[in-house]
Amino acid sequence: MTNIFDVLIIGGGVHGASLAFHLASRGVKLAVLEKRFIAAGATGRSSGLVRMHYDLEAEARLAHVSFGYFTDWRGRVGGDCGFTRTGFLQLVKRDQNEALKANVAAQQRIGIRTEVIVAEDVHRLAPEFTVDDIEFAAYEPDSGYADPTLTASSLLAAARARGATFIQDCLVKGISVANGRVTGVSTSKGDFSAPIIVNAAGAWGKQICQMAGLDLPLSTWRHETMFVRRPPELSAPHLTVIDFPNSMYFRPEGQELTLVGLEDGNPLGESPEGDADHARPGFVEAAIERICERIPKMENAHLHGAHGGYDGITPDQHPALGPIGPDGFFLDTGFSGTGFKIAPAVGLCMAEWILDGAPGTVDISLFSPSRFSDGRQIQGEYPYESIWR
Ligand SMILES: Cc1cc2nc3c(=O)[nH]c(=O)nc-3n(C[C@H](O)[C@H](O)[C@H](O)COP(=O)(O)OP(=O)(O)OC[C@H]3O[C@@H](n4cnc5c(N)ncnc54)[C@H](O)[C@@H]3O)c2cc1C
Repeated sequence: MTNIFDVLIIGGGVHGASLAFHLASRGVKLAVLEKRFIAAGATGRSSGLVRMHYDLEAEARLAHVSFGYFTDWRGRVGGDCGFTRTGFLQLVKRDQNEALKANVAAQQRIGIRTEVIVAEDVHRLAPEFTVDDIEFAAYEPDSGYADPTLTASSLLAAARARGATFIQDCLVKGISVANGRVTGVSTSKGDFSAPIIVNAAGAWGKQICQMAGLDLPLSTWRHETMFVRRPPELSAPHLTVIDFPNSMYFRPEGQELTLVGLEDGNPLGESPEGDADHARPGFVEAAIERICERIPKMENAHLHGAHGGYDGITPDQHPALGPIGPDGFFLDTGFSGTGFKIAPAVGLCMAEWILDGAPGTVDISLFSPSRFSDGRQIQGEYPYESIWR
């Protein structure tokens, strides 16, 4: 019998790949089981923003540890993750100024290179931006974006180089449990056994939990992005920006394109099998309107394309990490639309949790899925409004 492993990871997105990399680096015999191909889910559609501004310290810490990987990818993982430094701006509404300052101070204590700047500084950094609706912004000079598919592929390649097995076109159909312990899975490619099974299935996370006899409040979040070709008068790549006043974020894509996503109007609870290849009616018009609010010269941009994707989401919009239900069953899911940039550190901490009994590098135990039945919701220390309305 060759299908016997120490750990089975369900899902070949960036989180399955990151966990595989960290476990394989510690000598664990594991297989990643993926129903389609690497990065076929949210990861392949992710906007790939790499920034450290969060209103929850634990997430800022995960983003900071991950940033060390993104900026030293060749040294730590090997291959490439496509990290591009653009500088990052977090723009907030005036009534969020105090939260912004408190969050930046907390991030500086962690060691993140970030500062509060005023509207005139934003204008100096980005003369083409309208700044009359903001007073302050957080500025991370070293942040930017990475290529999510490349990131997941190189994590997986590094895991395989350390002995991990990757099986694609392998749909997990059931999880077997005996005497309160998981023992293996049944799939479209046969049965696999392992004493530890990790649910890294993103928007399909709820279904995988049901296979283990768990009914958790995991849902789905649909999100769309638009790409425009900038006009000649905006030819230089710009900063990566989260723009709360316009409920939007944007970043350059390569030399000529700009990617735009909207923070509002992202449907919850749809089937993750929905059509994500096309944006819904009205999205492109809204995205063009919003980007022109911040950068009026974008009026002369040309539409390049638009599509969507599905991520898993939890009731408090923070991930669900750690053991739950039968012994040996772990969640590594529910990233609620912001999971890409923390993937290297989450994989590291999950590997510590599985192998050492507790996460060490960053204490991620607050993300335990037991919070759902305990009635506990995670909230940032200096919270902004919940973003995915
Ligand atoms: C459009 C969009 C833009 C985003 N932009 C950003 C961003 O800028 N920055 C950021 O940090 N985050 C962003 N996110 C969120 C981020 O991309 C996700 O949190 C992250 O990619 C989730 O990774 P994952 O590995 O958990 O899930 P996924 O990448 O969805 O991987 C899960 C995998 O599980 C597989 N699977 C499911 N069911 C089964 C089964 N039964 N058997 C076998 N395999 C199965 C799926 O095929 C899939 O490949 C964005 C998300 C979307 C959708």
